[in-house]
Amino acid sequence: MLIGIDDTDSPQGMCTTYLGAVLARRLIRRGMRVCEARLIRLNPNVTYKTRGNAAIALRADGDCTTAFDIACHTVEELADFACENTNPGVVVVKDPPDPAIYWKAVRDFCEIDEAVEILDSAGAQYRGYKNSRGLIGATAAVASELSDATYEILTYRHPEQWGTLRDVNRESLFAAEEATFPHTWDTVDEENDLVVCVPHTPDPVLFGIRGESPAWVMMARSMVESENPGLEQIWVTNQGTDAHLIAGRAGVLREGLSYRVPGVVMDAPETGTGGHVSFTISDAGSCVRCMAYEPTKNFRQIVRALVPGDAVIACGSFKKGSINLEKVRVLSLARSAMSRPPLCTACNKRMTSDGTGKGHKCKKCGAHVKDPEVTEIPRTLKTRWYEVPPTARRHLAKPLCRGVSD
Ligand code: ATP
Repeated sequence: MLIGIDDTDSPQGMCTTYLGAVLARRLIRRGMRVCEARLIRLNPNVTYKTRGNAAIALRADGDCTTAFDIACHTVEELADFACENTNPGVVVVKDPPDPAIYWKAVRDFCEIDEAVEILDSAGAQYRGYKNSRGLIGATAAVASELSDATYEILTYRHPEQWGTLRDVNRESLFAAEEATFPHTWDTVDEENDLVVCVPHTPDPVLFGIRGESPAWVMMARSMVESENPGLEQIWVTNQGTDAHLIAGRAGVLREGLSYRVPGVVMDAPETGTGGHVSFTISDAGSCVRCMAYEPTKNFRQIVRALVPGDAVIACGSFKKGSINLEKVRVLSLARSAMSRPPLCTACNKRMTSDGTGKGHKCKKCGAHVKDPEVTEIPRTLKTRWYEVPPTARRHLAKPLCRGVSD
């Protein structure tokens, strides 16, 4: 059977993955076999989300009704019902429903009724609390298909420590990254000298290590020195797989969906207030603005090095008329040149323009030259992919160290 849960936490605390890890142990104590724990990230642009729009599913052997009762009791005991925006959903189903609902929830927006209809036709046992919105994520989690998958080991704090400062040794995290990258990633951000894997919110997570296999995340985890965690769970997940990205074309993008969009750079990138960098790409007569926000740090230097005529593929969510860049592929580089009035060969003085289309004139000797001096500017960019640093990476975005999707 598959047990799906979503929407149990609030900005004040709890975490659906913690609740899932507790539930897995309760099922095991009741003699059930838990074969897999899935951490499923859904559309990152859903406004109801608390943090990273996560849902969980456990694959287990045992009696469905017993599992459903234990799951509901666990949610009733641990979910943060006091928060208006916490609307838990619990689902138990013998066979996974059609994965279409999973793909829709990762890439688009779903309605509660849609999830309920799928659950009814799958013969699922389910319970939605309050407005039942959590049934969307819970249904998507049990319907998920992981054609590509990564792993994360999450360590959780003892409940009496929740809300207090986390004690995780910074140097040990950098050492773990150094020893296991590129088989693990996003533990730290070397370039920006930042720890990435320790949250700052009051939830139960102590730290999480992401990587390509259970063995690699456990190896990195074993190097981390910290306060003693109360619980640890390895999750198989769609994180780091680009599951949210779909092929898109400028002019026909929908708000809140995430795309790979081809286009040619139209204008020189501009840095606006707050350090956000923007430029426009065009494809078949339609344009779309691309944004590299300040938190993307040095990625903005890459974006600033683009010039009109460069052909790119821009990847990211389409929000308020712009693609918020997660990564960009430079397909071809345009010639970049600077032109200015030439030097007078007789006087060695810079000439001045004689008016539009009228060439250049030496103020000293009156010599006239038609063409400007053109200097080729060497391009620093290469034709390859560039990505935001780990500190700015979205959960679903596939890091380049995992390989590139062409
Ligand atoms: P955390 O990551 O800390 O577990 P969260 O960010 O996952 O928190 P939730 O509390 O789960 O946030 O809230 C997300 C809500 O949005 C859930 O009720 C979920 O069912 C719903 N939801 C998820 N994906 C979609 C979607 N594509 N369309 C509509 N609703 C969705």
